[in-house]
Amino acid sequence: MQDDGNTFDRRQYLKLSGVAGITVTGLAGCLEGSGDGDGDDDGPEATGENEIIAGTEPGFPPFEMVEDGELVGFDIDHLEAVVDETDYELAGWQELEFDSLIPALENGKIDVIAAAMTINEDRKQRIAFSDPYYSSDQSVLVQSGGGFQPSALEDLADKQIGAQSGTTGEAIVQENLIDEGLIDATDYDSYDSYVLAVQDLERGLRDAVVLDQPVARTFEANRDVEAAFTFETGEEYGLGVRQGDEDLQAALNDGIAAVEESGEYETLTQDWFGE
Ligand code: GLN
Repeated sequence: MQDDGNTFDRRQYLKLSGVAGITVTGLAGCLEGSGDGDGDDDGPEATGENEIIAGTEPGFPPFEMVEDGELVGFDIDHLEAVVDETDYELAGWQELEFDSLIPALENGKIDVIAAAMTINEDRKQRIAFSDPYYSSDQSVLVQSGGGFQPSALEDLADKQIGAQSGTTGEAIVQENLIDEGLIDATDYDSYDSYVLAVQDLERGLRDAVVLDQPVARTFEANRDVEAAFTFETGEEYGLGVRQGDEDLQAALNDGIAAVEESGEYETLTQDWFGE
C-alpha cells in the first residue's frame, strides 16, 4: 500500500492522535454502562415512540473511537446526519463489543447498528441492512520497519495472526489461512477489540493483524505499525436493523440518500478520511 499518511490534514491528525486512549475509555464504557437511570445501568434507553438507540464498537478508528471520554467518528457523525433526515430521534449510543452488536439488536437493547459492519449473507440470516454507505477492502498490518514484510496472504504461513472477534477480517483468517492449512488454529488469536490486537502487534506478540483498509491506514498513521498489503474484498458497510423493522430501514435508506445528495457525506469523508 502506498504511504498516504501525508494526506491527513492537521484537523485529521488532531482527531486521530487520541487513538491510544481508546482501550481504557472504550472498555470502561462497556463495563460501566452510561448511567441511563433505569436502574440496570446498561446504557441509554429510548422512551418516545420514534426514539432509537444506536450501538457501536468504539475501537475502530476513524469510524468509531472514544476521545477524551467522548464517542466520535465517521459513523457517529454519519448516523446522526442520516437520522436527522428522518422522523426518528437518536436517543443515545450504546458501546458494545463487536460480537455483541447483533445479539443486542435482536433483544431490543439497541435499534440500529452503526459499526462499519459489512453487509453479508451470514448476517442477513439474522438482521436486515440499510443500503450500503461505505466500501472497503482488507489490509494486513505488520510492525513498522520490522523484518516481516508480507505481500500476499500466502506469506502469512506459520505466522501468529490476530483479528477482532466476529469480523470479516477474522473470516478471512479462518477461510484463507486456517482452512487452507497455512496456519494452525492455535496461531490465530481472536481479540475483543482491534485496538488490543494492534497493541500486541506493536509488542511483537503477533506477526500480523487482518482488518479493514481504512482502519489499518488510521492505525498506521498513529501507531508503530504499517499496512504491508491490501487485498480486494469489495465489502460494503450498512446500518443494521432488526428484520421486520421495515419503516426504520426505509427511513434510514432515505436518510442515507439525502445525506449523500446534500453534499454532507462528502464533507464527512473529508473530515474523517482526508479523502
Ligand atoms: N467491516 C468489518 C466487519 O463487518 C469490521 C467491522 C468492525 O470491526 N467494526 O466485520
